[in-house]
Amino acid sequence: MLRITDILDKAQSYLPAKELEMIEKAYIYSATVHQGQVRLSGEPYLTHPMEVAGILVDMKLDAATIISGLLHDTVEDTLTTQEQVEKEFGKDVAFLVGGLTKLSRISFGSQEERLAENFRKMILAMSADIRILLVRLADRIHNMRTLQYHPPDRRIYIAKETMEIYAPLANRLGINWMKMVLEDLAFKYLYPEEYSDLSRRIVKTKQSRDRYTDEVKNVIIRELEKLSIKGEVEGRAKHFYSIFKKMQEQHINFDEVYDLIAFRLILDSDNVKTCYEVLSSVHALWKPVPGRFKDYIAMPKANNYQSLHTTVIGPYGERLEIQIRTKAMHEWAEKGIAAHWKYKEGRTFEHDEDTQIKKLRETLEVQQEIKDPREFMSNLKLALFPEEVYVFTPNGDVRAFPKGATPIDFAYSIHSDVGNQCIGAKVNRNIVPLKYALQNGDRVEIITQIGHHPSKDWLKYVVTTRAISKIKNWINLEKKKSSLALGRDLLDKEFKRHGLKFTNLVKAEEIKKIFVEYGVNSLDDLVSQVGYGRISPKQVVNHFLVEDTSKTPVPVLEKVKKKPEAVPSLGISLTGIDDVMVKFAKCCNPIPGDDIAGYISRGRGITVHTRNCPHIKNLDIDRIVDIDWNVREKHAYPVHIKIVSDDRKGILTEISSTISSFDVNISYAQVETIDMIATCNFMIDVNDLKQLNQILSAIKQLKSVKSIERIRKS
Ligand code: MN
Repeated sequence: MLRITDILDKAQSYLPAKELEMIEKAYIYSATVHQGQVRLSGEPYLTHPMEVAGILVDMKLDAATIISGLLHDTVEDTLTTQEQVEKEFGKDVAFLVGGLTKLSRISFGSQEERLAENFRKMILAMSADIRILLVRLADRIHNMRTLQYHPPDRRIYIAKETMEIYAPLANRLGINWMKMVLEDLAFKYLYPEEYSDLSRRIVKTKQSRDRYTDEVKNVIIRELEKLSIKGEVEGRAKHFYSIFKKMQEQHINFDEVYDLIAFRLILDSDNVKTCYEVLSSVHALWKPVPGRFKDYIAMPKANNYQSLHTTVIGPYGERLEIQIRTKAMHEWAEKGIAAHWKYKEGRTFEHDEDTQIKKLRETLEVQQEIKDPREFMSNLKLALFPEEVYVFTPNGDVRAFPKGATPIDFAYSIHSDVGNQCIGAKVNRNIVPLKYALQNGDRVEIITQIGHHPSKDWLKYVVTTRAISKIKNWINLEKKKSSLALGRDLLDKEFKRHGLKFTNLVKAEEIKKIFVEYGVNSLDDLVSQVGYGRISPKQVVNHFLVEDTSKTPVPVLEKVKKKPEAVPSLGISLTGIDDVMVKFAKCCNPIPGDDIAGYISRGRGITVHTRNCPHIKNLDIDRIVDIDWNVREKHAYPVHIKIVSDDRKGILTEISSTISSFDVNISYAQVETIDMIATCNFMIDVNDLKQLNQILSAIKQLKSVKSIERIRKS
């Protein structure tokens, strides 16, 4: 068991005495609160925080991190509160322990592999300080080292979680050694047979491998001496999991894995050029394998790893993998982010480290000058995961959203029906308003109600494109539905007023011409355009009004074409245009002498209305033309007149004979008597307005006639 003196011995090499005291105090505190607790191994619980602190001190991390390692399970597993930690050890430590407590409450193992990336991001996002993750990773390493005390199914669960979440997380942070340790530990439990086979072979071949390693190393060292370049040469077997992966990916067995050993040249020089110089002499020594050279110096990996990689054909015709890098690059490659959190005093690579951070910053395109390490971390996180929040579904799945996302965004991410019928939300079991901005780690539950609808206001609260488009879709669909109903209503009414039935007319040829005229594709389209108010119902009905009002629609154009000879006799002239087809509107029945206007109907010539006809006001003004009467010979034009008189015997005969005295034909007559008042409707064919006025005044002279008027349909 690791003792506190071991930790303090290591810490005193780089930490001041005052901080050593705090570490010792934390040790005593942890020992006190964990008193009586035991691990599954039967050892006192304290061994665990001690081992974790041991890993952290080996990484030369600052005192707050080591203290947090000693205390990391106290709030979660003992009666200690975060307030007590703060009182005893200060804000910094309390903050780290608080973050560790939060993280320890999340379990990841049961998740689908595809979600692992989300979890990694979420852990990062939830760790306000990267030191929380460093302690968490150290914690995981010790737990993996003592995994054999768990029951078998727990072992698999934890190992899988380690492989899918924690090892990639270590890689993300650039802490290569942690990644390798975690992968190998997980590999051991996930593929026990392959692991033991591989380790047996590696042990068995150790002697010959060592001999081979020494031989190659010596060749390289001699080469460096020739160039007078100082540096170290390492030859190490790769970690088990990477060998295993290589065998699997390339479908080869152990004996074929020549590049079991990776050689590493760590140069004292800071000069990047030296790396390339060494590379070229290595390539002169052994033939490079084409396509295997990778320049991670010019193009660093996402975690800012830098190195030159090449594979050459070695002394025995075997493949030989060589990495070339500077000391600073090596430090970063091994320790990654953790290098930044090393205790600052007495740091040997200060200059190099600053260069690395600068490079990292450039890589991440963080613009600001970085003064504060915390600012550095938050910038790093922002650059790695721009503006995202991670929340849980009630099933424990993780979903990522842009910052500012609300429960409505969440609801739509589940299903559009859930979104549409969303009436409320619970976050961490409390009701929140729908405009609540989701926070990292929130557990979100949506309350729905069948038949509930989205509201236009929601568009103000959502940020995901999915939610925005779904809400807009719904609103448009609803608008279309209601405008369809309204349009049909308007058209029904309008047609009814003209004694027509819209539903009968929709099958007419004429309707297709209307489609073309208004640029619509279907009847629904036309009807909804009327509902939107883009086309007036009168515009539609006018297409059917020119001909007679019989119930069946008449294909107007065809009828007109059949008797073009009727046109010149109508007595209308239009300036500049000859041979124009003319119709008289049934609504106002114009007669010569009336002030008139023409309306151009596409393909149907001109429809003549009186200027004061109410219909003409609804027509497209651009298609109204000035026309004049040009009566060369007499024609009869139908006019509707209405006469109201006392109901006395012989009145109808008197009116009829008065009309006839003008040599005018009566085409229709109808009398209605109510309460001794007679209302007579006549259709008469007159030559012009003058004749009509004569007739009207003559009738007015008749005894008992109260009023007389010309009727226009409105
Ligand atoms: Mn722990």
